[in-house]
Amino acid sequence: MDLRVRKIYEALFALEDLRELFRHAVPSGLTKAEEAQFLNGIARVESIIRELKEGKGNPIQEVMAGLELRTREEEFININPIQPGGRLTPEARKALIGYGDGYSVCDMCLEGRLDKIRKPPVDEFHAELAEFVGMDEARVVPGARRGFQAVASTLLEKGDIVLVSDLAHYTEFLAVEIAGGVIKEVPSGPQNIVTGDAVANTIELVKEKLGKLPKLIMLEHFDYSFGNEHDVVGVGRIAKEYGIPFLYNGAYSVGVMPVNGKQIGADFVVGSGHKSMAAVAPSGVLATTDEWAPRIFRSSHIVGDITGRSFENKEPEMMGCTLMGGTLLSLMASFPAVKERVKRWDEEVEKSNYFIREFLRIEGNKVASEFARKHTLSKVNTRESFDQIAKTHKRRGYFLSDELKHKKIVGEFAGSTRVWKLSTYGLSWSRIKYLSEAFIEIAEKYGLAVR
Ligand SMILES: *Cc1c(COP(=O)(O)O)cnc(C)c1O
Repeated sequence: MDLRVRKIYEALFALEDLRELFRHAVPSGLTKAEEAQFLNGIARVESIIRELKEGKGNPIQEVMAGLELRTREEEFININPIQPGGRLTPEARKALIGYGDGYSVCDMCLEGRLDKIRKPPVDEFHAELAEFVGMDEARVVPGARRGFQAVASTLLEKGDIVLVSDLAHYTEFLAVEIAGGVIKEVPSGPQNIVTGDAVANTIELVKEKLGKLPKLIMLEHFDYSFGNEHDVVGVGRIAKEYGIPFLYNGAYSVGVMPVNGKQIGADFVVGSGHKSMAAVAPSGVLATTDEWAPRIFRSSHIVGDITGRSFENKEPEMMGCTLMGGTLLSLMASFPAVKERVKRWDEEVEKSNYFIREFLRIEGNKVASEFARKHTLSKVNTRESFDQIAKTHKRRGYFLSDELKHKKIVGEFAGSTRVWKLSTYGLSWSRIKYLSEAFIEIAEKYGLAVR
């Protein structure tokens, strides 16, 4: 536990209490009692700051009763497979302080449409977001899954076929399910990589057996399981040949690496704010071409039978509006940093490969993902190394988590010493080297051979 981290939280909370006074001060200003509270509050902040400076005092444990403080990003190196790309930038954390209130983005909503709000510059952000992923139009959505859902719900009739990979994320399945569609899986084969050929074969099989073509192809650029790169360009080409719309799932790519949907041949690009765009959950993006935008982002046509009310300016697939506060503002605040960081993707991959190469020096360690790595998310297999230790250790599989935690590393699946995942995204070179050495030291401690 780092006392200074705890003191920083305490000071932030004390400042929030001061801020709260001003939320009741208009029109009469602070009352006498509140002025006294204000002075007490200042004194409290000052004393916390003094303790922070001197490294003294009690470390706080909770935000409030029963709600533990989350200090994982301050007190540990976090290698959790799904968390690093969604770690907030300082800008996003500040935006959250400022725009945490419910519908905070709606102060100046003149047209009843989120993507047309000019203050804060939500309209401009939407335009930039579309450009960022190489498409014509974009909307923010509550998670990549809601992007799949909007597309599936627009395109599918009951019984329509959707092609996904045998490594597809469950949310693709669920989006198809609620739209009444039927899943056909494309095999990723022994390499665990989906190719254009495999997609073409599956299309032919579907055509032969069911006498119709799939209505949609969804494919992740990098799957959640291995972090392998799939041939999205090849699949984009096949999709065009057959005239089947193609949804590019960029949950693990949009926001960490450059993505150009049109160059890929995608009709839809979906990204995840909390997975890869340094934003608050649930957030994400759905982008499409001028060709598809009028269908996916069509206007409402429903009319009330008594009142005759209609909502032509609302988009049904977006349920009118999507991210109306802190989620959107965090996406927007992180966006400048995100645009910069995608340019450094090659180095992220280099660091990932450095780590895996070091990790493989431990005898028995294997990488289940494709190697060389093309992503920072990797699946490793330690059945013949750490799992052998776990068999006789009194803490079983938890021995590895214990050892890692002792070295201030968290995020591996606790208790798992067989096949598990980690991500090195965002770790500096010195942390990458520290992480590599940590595993080697643990291996040596338990007598595993290191090459
Ligand atoms: C994480 C993930 C999703 C879901 O993303 P959300 O933004 O949480 O909805 C979908 N597909 C893949 C491949 C993922 O890794």
